[in-house]
Amino acid sequence: MISIDRPTADLGDVRVTNRAAVLRHVRRHAPCSRADVAAHTGLNKATVSSLVAELIEHGLLRETGLTENRVGRPATMLVLDGSRYVGLGLRVGADELVAVAAGLGGDPVLTWRRAFPAATAGPEETVKALAALTRRAVNRIGADRTVLGLTVAVAGLVDPDGDVPAAPALGWRGVPLAASVRRALRDRDFPVAVDTEANLAVLAERRHGPYAATTDLVHLTGGPAIGAGLISGGRLLRGGRGFAGDVGHLPLAADGPACDCGRRGCLTALLGVDAVIRRLLPGAGPVTDHLPEVERIQVLARAGDEPVRTGLTEIGRLLGQATSVLSGLLDPEVVVVGGHLAALAPWLLPAAHAELAARTPVPPGVRLEASTLGSAAGALGGATAALATVEAGRLPAG
Ligand SMILES: [Zn+2]
Repeated sequence: MISIDRPTADLGDVRVTNRAAVLRHVRRHAPCSRADVAAHTGLNKATVSSLVAELIEHGLLRETGLTENRVGRPATMLVLDGSRYVGLGLRVGADELVAVAAGLGGDPVLTWRRAFPAATAGPEETVKALAALTRRAVNRIGADRTVLGLTVAVAGLVDPDGDVPAAPALGWRGVPLAASVRRALRDRDFPVAVDTEANLAVLAERRHGPYAATTDLVHLTGGPAIGAGLISGGRLLRGGRGFAGDVGHLPLAADGPACDCGRRGCLTALLGVDAVIRRLLPGAGPVTDHLPEVERIQVLARAGDEPVRTGLTEIGRLLGQATSVLSGLLDPEVVVVGGHLAALAPWLLPAAHAELAARTPVPPGVRLEASTLGSAAGALGGATAALATVEAGRLPAG
């Protein structure tokens, strides 16, 4: 699989390291000049010029006009070039598939959503649908761009081989997802990886959300099963087997509602989208398409419906409790909530913030905010992860 936190094998190659440093600087500070890059990376100007020439030749950087706004001679400015290579990310949601293709500059080349019931369809049909969506996306991306890789986001446990031992939100167990998708796309020559939705969503937050400078960040996914993507000290935490952040069965309320795992009051049984719908829309029955129900809750909350408002305040308090647990473990600067938790944030966060403040020993403590990336977060992170080898300083083949 493509690693998004482990160094590539030839990092010992100084040129690879330096290339990555140049790309990283331009990504964060574009537009910037060669002299800026040299000043901030500590590389000498001749080295920077040579690296930049190589990166321009390979379509990873491009020049963009001159700036007048400098002391001395106007300089030619550099930006990332997103026109030649893209990463592809797919997200398997409980009721939809999302595809995102993004260039090196982070600009989404395409964002598609397709209603698809992965839970009832099962892994085999889902793999076929993923392969079909990938082929359509690659056709749309066109022959003038090269797809560098595909990363699939799935809510559940993912091991380092891209197998999914368990994805309770989809009802999947023991699915060799990466191998199956690779087999279905065997006529394509880009690498395929699988990672958790939470890991990829937190990567997307850090790259495309307003948290680029944040080294300690958590993304708490919404949806049927809650998971956490954890960035600590600038690195994604994976744990010993790759299962770090599987917080869905963290016990929050001993007398809480029954959870699918057989216990009571787990995080997912209190904050998962099915639990929230069951609690706020008691007549809704079993739900296969969550979005319209979440929209109904928004409408009722806006209209000031008393039971819904009270319920959201109680759920918000639980979210504050869960956040304080994460805060105690990892001391993040920001916890970002996604999915239905972001959609309902205007009513959840005030109570969550109050609960969190009451549990914070040393103010101001962790910030708790709603994601602005929507249901594409995992897929966008997948597209970002697929570009990781290039960002690590390796030149694309061909
Ligand atoms: Zn549970």
